[in-house]
Amino acid sequence: MSEQPQNPAQPPAAAPAEGGPAAPSKSEIKKRAKEAEKAKKAAERAAREEEERRKREAAASVDNASQNYGKLPLHQSQERLGRQYLQFDKISDADVGKQVVFRARMHNTRAQGAKMVFLQFRQQTETLQGVLVQSKDTDEHQVSKQMLKYAITVPAESIVIVEGVIKAAEVKSCTIQTYEVSVQKLYTAVEAQTLPFSMADASRDEADFQKAELDENLQYSRVNLTTRLDHRVMDLRTPANQAIFRMQSGICQLFRDHLNGLGFVEIHTPKLQGAATESGASVFKVKYFEGEAFLAQSPQLAKQMCIAADMERVYEIAPVFRAENSNTHRHMTEFMGLDLEMAITEHYHEALEVIDSMLKAIFHGLKGKFGKEIEVIRRQFPSEDFVVLDKTPIIEFKEAVKMLQEAGATESDGSALQDNADLSTENEKFLGKLVKEKYNGADYYIVDKFPSDFRPFYSMPTPGNPATVNSYDIYMRGEEILSGAQRIHDPEFLTQRIKELGMNPDELKDYIDAFRLGCPPHAGGGIGLERVLMFYLGLGNIRRASLFPRDPKRLKP
Ligand code: ATP
Repeated sequence: MSEQPQNPAQPPAAAPAEGGPAAPSKSEIKKRAKEAEKAKKAAERAAREEEERRKREAAASVDNASQNYGKLPLHQSQERLGRQYLQFDKISDADVGKQVVFRARMHNTRAQGAKMVFLQFRQQTETLQGVLVQSKDTDEHQVSKQMLKYAITVPAESIVIVEGVIKAAEVKSCTIQTYEVSVQKLYTAVEAQTLPFSMADASRDEADFQKAELDENLQYSRVNLTTRLDHRVMDLRTPANQAIFRMQSGICQLFRDHLNGLGFVEIHTPKLQGAATESGASVFKVKYFEGEAFLAQSPQLAKQMCIAADMERVYEIAPVFRAENSNTHRHMTEFMGLDLEMAITEHYHEALEVIDSMLKAIFHGLKGKFGKEIEVIRRQFPSEDFVVLDKTPIIEFKEAVKMLQEAGATESDGSALQDNADLSTENEKFLGKLVKEKYNGADYYIVDKFPSDFRPFYSMPTPGNPATVNSYDIYMRGEEILSGAQRIHDPEFLTQRIKELGMNPDELKDYIDAFRLGCPPHAGGGIGLERVLMFYLGLGNIRRASLFPRDPKRLKP
């Protein structure tokens, strides 16, 4: 017979029948009753505890902070509350303790234990640390564990709207190192999708790569230029690019300010033209209704015509198109030209002096106004200070060739460098080094009076020496940024020069005719905006100085 367990909660069994086991003693009965009572209490306690646990769990799944985070509906200009978003670069001691709201990119997130998340928010070049701490139920600003979980899963680069309180802090990992924000609300306004590369990889300092070369535990991937240009929008968000394009804008501003101050007028000349302006070989042809048109290779002829139209001093900032299959570090098929032209009184050096003063205003302006940007850019693209002397070296072409010959420079094929040779890129760079040595480290200089053979037909010959023209190039770190000259303003002489160079004057009729109405003597020059930016910062490739570069192999994005 199997043994039946005795239910401790039941009263003791009745006395067994005659012949069965002996009846329990009184004390045994008492003991069993006590045990039964104890067991009953334990069961009641267990039931109570189970009930409490269930209540606790139910309470925990209620998220008191659910209104403090989440994805916002599509922004359709639904309301206008007059809120002012905080700008990171304006945070000051006066903001400490203040309730703020801002919009930023989610740069990075990191959980610290179970109850805290560190966030990095980014506005252009500035990053601000955010701290999200799980709060007690009684806190006025609820931060729940669900909110922590949400914060950690917001995709990097999403646009978030954050509310919180600015606190004084010591932060190493952000650009803002003396403040942080204690986050109370976190909403995603626009969610970013899969990224082509991480911001950390795209923004990494060159010094970190150097360190990694010496330490096998450090491994960083470089994002190459092609990948960056393929995903330019993402690439442009890096601090270095934010700084580069602020400086590009700065150059245009400084150019305008300086020339406006000298009485120049800003002009806008057509980019669609009926004939190739300078050379048929490097012009883009486009369909123009039933016929064809050409994209302007420079505003050369139009700006001269403005001088013939008595505008005296003009400048333009506009695109220039070159159909040259030049796949180099400094050529693009579309670039921004900074062009100027002015009537002269006695000598073309008046124009050269204006250009020199304008370029110096740009260099000094960049140094004075963009110190912070230069520092940011140099972390990714290390470069030496750009040296500008008070008195710009002006070297005549024949003197430049002599310097090169004396230093042993040759033609690319190894033959001797001729006195009137066109300088190769290598020889130009070599000249840059020689000038730097000879002229107190100068990175900026002018070469004047070029041989006429390789200057455009409209360059004015030097009096007494028809083999050279009143024409100059300007260099930064050994590479050309500007070409300019005094132009021929006499229509008969211009026609003669055109014929001498084997060109057809009929194709340049409009241009020559402008001078038939009488035009003052004038000179000017054209600068490539991206080249100035690239050489000033030592970026190594012109594409880094162009928002969406166009070259023989790239037409998008
Ligand atoms: P390079 O000899 O370097 O090809 P260039 O003599 O053809 O230049 P110009 O036609 O005189 O140049 O143009 C004036 C300025 O315009 C140049 O000094 C340079 O700053 C800029 N520039 C010319 N071509 C390009 C190009 N393809 N891409 C970017 N900038 C250019």
